[in-house]
Amino acid sequence: MTAKTSPLLVIDDVVTEYRTGPDVVRALDGASLTAGPGESVGIVGESGSGKSTLGLLTGRLLPSGARCPRGRVLVDGESVLDLPPDRRARLRRERLAYVPQDPIGALDPTLRIGRQLRLALRDTPVDLVALLDQVRIRDPEHVLRLYPHQISGGMAQRVAVATAMARKPALLIADEPTAALDSQVREEVLRLLFTLAAERGTTVLWLSHDLGGVARWCGRIAVMYGGRVVEDGTTADVLAAPQHPYTAALLAADPARAKGGTRLLAIGGTPPVLTEDPPGCVFTPRCGSAAGDCRTVRPSPRTVAGRAVLCHHPGGTPVTLPAPKENAR
Ligand code: ATP
Ligand code: MG
Repeated sequence: MTAKTSPLLVIDDVVTEYRTGPDVVRALDGASLTAGPGESVGIVGESGSGKSTLGLLTGRLLPSGARCPRGRVLVDGESVLDLPPDRRARLRRERLAYVPQDPIGALDPTLRIGRQLRLALRDTPVDLVALLDQVRIRDPEHVLRLYPHQISGGMAQRVAVATAMARKPALLIADEPTAALDSQVREEVLRLLFTLAAERGTTVLWLSHDLGGVARWCGRIAVMYGGRVVEDGTTADVLAAPQHPYTAALLAADPARAKGGTRLLAIGGTPPVLTEDPPGCVFTPRCGSAAGDCRTVRPSPRTVAGRAVLCHHPGGTPVTLPAPKENAR
């Protein structure tokens, strides 16, 4: 359900660029999103659409080559991008937790797991054995004595989820927190994460490729394409009647939705890599419904069927995907 109270998180028209030598990649190109207290928002989109950049930006965790020439990010009314380093550190410590896409890479290779957890949770009295037990880690006493290179990616993900939730953050940003887990453990970890979040009123941004999981656990879906949120609505509305042609294509390509011999489509073409202001809608080359204005006029946010959509010709038009591939199913 969309929260009507003042939002915990406001991301407003943000541009973020990575510079590597003379090259510039624009990862966010006017991205906007708000989330209220206790909301769970699933952020979906193909690889490269900007999900991780949005999460890193919100936690003010972008690498040094990144810059934000435009936009603002407010957490609890505080402007994250303008905070001095000490206030930024406090915000991260007290209000926000981040589960990275690569949890092993985020761990310090020189410290045992137990020591890292104690450091991460120094302000929170926690029984570490019980904590790891909660995320189904067998023999937690032994795991606490291991170094990061001695544990699997799946175990590191569970450690990262458990640590993040133990800190009782107001905002949890979870970047593919279960990608390396088998389906049964994934289900258990997601259940734990979203049950705790619901009990505590934690706002969750789940950056994910798992549309089925998002449909199950998140009240809202934000679809990203080319560094912008192109559709943002309640999960029920978006799944029942996607308004942006990209959302429709994404749903048509989702294996979980192509049951019992239904044709499963891959989205034709490739996602854009942006370097500067594009003239029109960046989905145009892949969109079967594109008209003249799509090539020349950049879409602005508009409300369609009760949700925000960035498209000149939303809904209504049947989605025809260029060069669809039929997958074996
Ligand atoms: P995935 O689903 O693969 O995790 P994503 O939606 O999280 O993708 P991002 O990782 O945010 O996408 O990447 C957005 C764009 O920014 C891509 O073009 C990517 O190549 C580029 N990018 C991301 N991180 C960096 C970096 N550290 N340096 C340079 N370019 C980067
Ligand atoms: Mg990512």
